Amino acid sequence: MSNVYKHRHILAFMKCAENFADLSHAKRLQVGAVLIRGDQILAQGWNGTLPGEPNCCETPDGSATLPSVRHAEVNCLNKLRHSSETSVGGIMIVTHQPCPRCSEELIQAKVHGVVYRHPYRDQSGIDKLISLGKTIYQIQPDDTIMRHHNTGGLVYYDSETLLF
Ligand SMILES: [Zn+2]
Repeated sequence: MSNVYKHRHILAFMKCAENFADLSHAKRLQVGAVLIRGDQILAQGWNGTLPGEPNCCETPDGSATLPSVRHAEVNCLNKLRHSSETSVGGIMIVTHQPCPRCSEELIQAKVHGVVYRHPYRDQSGIDKLISLGKTIYQIQPDDTIMRHHNTGGLVYYDSETLLF
């Protein structure tokens, strides 16, 4: 299984994740994710409530997200339950940096890496992913790419290919 991905392909997958984020009914924050391996999308997801629940993601005053709202990465991984595909060796492309709980799900799903665009206040999930050997990239607003190093720093990544 190839662990080399073209920069421009990763950007195209990120656009897919951003399009799926638009499907979220959340008002505070719309998050989209696609799980890829090689040149294929294995599954997609966005943040939202459980099937059959009302499509309302916020408290009545709109100030907070309901704890029952499922995050995009988890919804994406759960799609594989209805598929013969496996998440093992996949790359999670997600519009927002994974939170600690989703990071644990990604570790359990045995993905090789994560690419995200928007940072999150809590870095501990990313730190855990890195400590367990996962490769993490951040796409900047100008579509250049930074790589998280195991020392904790973000370093500009100047290459036409991303390695995981
Ligand atoms: Zn999460």
